[in-house]
Parts: sequence; C-alpha cells; structure tokens
Amino acid sequence: MDINDKSLDNVNSDVAEWALKKEKQIRYLTDLENYRRKFVGNISHELKTPIFTIQGYLHTLLDGGLYDEQINQKYLQRAVSNVERLQNIVEDLEIINKLESGAVELDMKSFDIKELCQDVIHDLELIAQDRDISLMFKDGASRAFRVTADRENIRQVLVNLITNSLKYGNDGGKTKVGFYDMDEKILIEVSDNGMGIDEQHLSHLFDRFYRVDSNRSRSQGGSGLGLSIVKHIIEAHKESISVRSTPGMGTTFGFTLKQS
Ligand code: ADP
Repeated sequence: MDINDKSLDNVNSDVAEWALKKEKQIRYLTDLENYRRKFVGNISHELKTPIFTIQGYLHTLLDGGLYDEQINQKYLQRAVSNVERLQNIVEDLEIINKLESGAVELDMKSFDIKELCQDVIHDLELIAQDRDISLMFKDGASRAFRVTADRENIRQVLVNLITNSLKYGNDGGKTKVGFYDMDEKILIEVSDNGMGIDEQHLSHLFDRFYRVDSNRSRSQGGSGLGLSIVKHIIEAHKESISVRSTPGMGTTFGFTLKQS
C-alpha cells in the first residue's frame, strides 16, 4: 500500500467516520442490553405473584387446611386460577417473542372481517353473558367487509380487544363492533361503555406490561401483554391502531386493514 496516496486529512476523516459508526453500534447494543434487562425484570416480576400465591395456598392446605371443609375447595380453586394466569402469561410471552423476532410470516388472504368477527363474538359469548354484557354489531354491518390480511393474527387482535372490553366493561354494559368503508381501507372499531381510561395513560397503553389498574387486570387474569400483541400484529400489516376514551363513559379501539 502506498501510504503517500492518502493525505493526513483523508485518514483523519476515515478515522472519524469509523469512530462514528462504532459509536452508533455501541449505542445500539447498549439499548438492546437495557431492553433485555428490563424485559427479563418484567417477566420475573409477572411470574412471581402467581407463583407466590399458589405456594401460599398449597402450604396452607398441607399445613392442615386440606381437612378444613371451609377452605379446601376454595384454596384449590384459587391455586388453579393462578396456574391459569401463569399459563396466560407464558402463552402471551411466546406470541410476543415470535412477533418481535420477526419470525412471523403473514399469511395474507382475502376474507370477510365481519364473518371473522361473528366467529369471535360467538366464542366469547359465554364470558359476555357472565358479565351480562351484550356483544353486537353497530348499524351498517349487514353486508360483508372483505379485507386482505392474516386471518389468524387478526382473530387474535379481535379476541384481545373484545376480551378487554368485557374485562373493563360494566356489568350490564354493551360492546359494539363497527366497520367503516374508507375506500382503500376498512376501519374496524371495538367500542365499550365501560370504565374508560384517563388521558395520561393513553400513550402508554400499548407498551408491554403496562396496566392502568394492575389489581383489576391481574384479578381478570391479564398478562399486560394483550395490547402490545395487538399493536405488533397491526404494525406487521403496515396498518395503524388508535384509541380514544372518556373515563366513566367508555373506550373505542380502531384499526385499519386493506380492503380487497
Ligand atoms: P391486560 O392483560 O392488563 O388486560 P392489555 O395490554 O390488554 O393488558 O391492556 C393494558 C391495560 O389497558 C389494561 O390493564 C387496562 O388497564 C387498560 N385497558 C385495555 N382495554 C381497556 C378497555 N376496553 N377499557 C378500559 N381499560 C382498558
């Protein structure tokens, strides 16, 4: 190599460029490390509560509670509910892990979103009846609304949004699903007349493990991951999701899909 080919100025700028590139790489790796640390911290925190609760019930049963007719059934049932909670968390973690690793390939097909929604409503009918909440379509849903999207992933979106409307809705309330034709896109809205969400929480709602009322969410078996899964799926479709809410009045989540 002829070192005379390069002026000192050139070498200097090469070194500066190299340093900048390295600095960016280091920043990226530091962010990744922080993100990983936070994620692992969140997961262990989420798992700890049900594990301790199950441990508590089982120890009480072993220490003689098993023979106490007043509590044995009740404590076993509570232990089972907490095992179900653990299961929900692990299932949601698996989904989010797949979505974030980019391993999900969308199976884009044309289908009627209204028919899919009808299916989901059917599956959730028992939970809705439990809370005495009516699940229905808004006016204007008498025709088909064909979209191109990954059907199974969109099913998950609808299940999470409608389940939330039941978890955070009022007994005797209403959940309505509406479809709006916006030329190239269909807007799908899930509205409830439940407890609503204060404005200060709205921008964090789709963050992993974010909850407005942790006690209520946990008592309903929530993992705090439902809405971040929804956002990942909608973003993978290169579409958008939004929320509007009035405390005490209700909440509406809306997302778009490509019309076909
Ligand atoms: P979770 O498992 O806690 O339900 P989500 O990610 O699905 O987790 O939702 C995050 C938080 O957003 C919930 O804990 C709840 O406080 C709030 N939330 C979601 N949907 C609604 C709704 N329809 N009405 C009121 N609050 C809601």
